[in-house]
Amino acid sequence: MIESITDTKKINTGEEYINSLRNRNLKVWLFGEMVKEPVDHPMIRPSINALAKTYDLAIAVPELASVISPFTGERISRFLHVCTNVEDLVLQNKMQRKLGQLTGTCFQRCVGMDAFNSLYSVTFEMDEKHGTTYHEKLKGFLTRMHQNNFVVGGAMTDVKGDRSLPPHQQEDKDMFVHITNRTKDGVYISGAKAHQTGCINSHWMVVMPTMRLGEKDSEFAIVGAVPVDAEGITYVYGRQSCDKRSMEGGSIDVGNAQYGGQEAMVIFENTFIPNEYIFMDGEYDFAAMLVERFTTYHRRSYVCKSGVGDVLIGAAASVVDMNGVPKASHIKNKLVEMTHLNETVYGTGIAASYQGYKTKSGAYICDEMLANVCKHHVTKMPYEIGRLAQDLAGGLVATLPSEQDLNHPEIGDLLQKYLRGKADVKTEDRMRILRLIENMTLGRNAVGYLTESMHGAGSPQAQRIQIGRMMQLEYKKRLAKIIAGVETEENKDLLIDELSGYFGRVFKI
Ligand code: SF4
Ligand code: FE
Repeated sequence: MIESITDTKKINTGEEYINSLRNRNLKVWLFGEMVKEPVDHPMIRPSINALAKTYDLAIAVPELASVISPFTGERISRFLHVCTNVEDLVLQNKMQRKLGQLTGTCFQRCVGMDAFNSLYSVTFEMDEKHGTTYHEKLKGFLTRMHQNNFVVGGAMTDVKGDRSLPPHQQEDKDMFVHITNRTKDGVYISGAKAHQTGCINSHWMVVMPTMRLGEKDSEFAIVGAVPVDAEGITYVYGRQSCDKRSMEGGSIDVGNAQYGGQEAMVIFENTFIPNEYIFMDGEYDFAAMLVERFTTYHRRSYVCKSGVGDVLIGAAASVVDMNGVPKASHIKNKLVEMTHLNETVYGTGIAASYQGYKTKSGAYICDEMLANVCKHHVTKMPYEIGRLAQDLAGGLVATLPSEQDLNHPEIGDLLQKYLRGKADVKTEDRMRILRLIENMTLGRNAVGYLTESMHGAGSPQAQRIQIGRMMQLEYKKRLAKIIAGVETEENKDLLIDELSGYFGRVFKI
């Protein structure tokens, strides 16, 4: 399998990317059947189109969505780049917002990007402590990915079984991906990763542990890269609300006919990872660092939702135009509120990137506190933006007749007449916008905009734990006590000495 992928030439355009996915030997289950060719499946294709947009944007605006590879000297996707300065981090966010705007959905490419960036610094520090050679191997892997400009997915979330037990105490070890066998050439792994974004649309995937591990969990401390069509991998496609509308043949009821997200379960049954692509093998003491760094990058990657929010705000503003009430003050107020919430998501994400700093490896990482605050906003604000969009859309967003009825020779004319808003707006156009709002708040892309916003990159409690760890309450209490005269003046010097961690980085910048 690995060899067949090596032969592929460098992918530059969205079209070349789509063609590169054809004729692979993927085992994909959907609706109780094996999918013959995912590229041509009407339910899967919109997710491929969304990812293809990352290639097209790299051509249309190269300074935003591409970089010159430090390994090959050629232009490659920014999604394959390891950040070496603050601007790199910031441009990742700007690219994510733009792609959210262009697709109105998840374009599925950030997990791999955030995985390389975290692995780059973690492998460096692991080698320093353990005398291993993972960092050089990772660079070799990146070079190979850059040569072909591949899509690389990241597989982190184990199915976890009994949440109260660590991996080694699970009745069935497969609840966490683990090593099942070892030869002189590499290791074999088994287990399953749940809700894997864009896995079927990737060329390779990086498998990582899902949480902090202890000494007895060392067989679960495995990081490695595999081609997505490696032997022993099965995908079970996750279905989404209203997903079969894309199989009905029309283009109105589906809401967003061109683009969609993709989540699937990935099952590994003795899948081989060659030594060359192993980037952690038993170093359980680095699992927590990897997960924390990955989530630091990934939680601020959720500025993607501000781009998707722009589309929803645009849809809500369009429907009020079509209804003839754009000037009503309560309507303007709601659009302002939606925008305020949306920009709050973007503001915290991009601030996390601007507060980025250098790790020992030279790679830059964003600010943990602000990244967690960004993702925590994302677990709430899109719901309120969605609520306001539904409020502005009116009840039709949930009761609209079907496209077949609109186009029917008998009933169609009556629907054209009674579903009209302003006289100069076509009924079909009004229906299209209402269906888009439905798609983003109740339908297929609500999966990404709402529920995935809740749970992706960790559910809300995961961010609260991180925010709680970093909130420096003792330091803040002392600030208050000194100003209130509870503590003495000399302590003021101590406060300056104590500028460390989160505040320290802010101070230095
Ligand atoms: Fe990227 Fe957003 Fe999709 Fe996650 S949800 S892969 S951050 S577009
Ligand atoms: Fe996600």
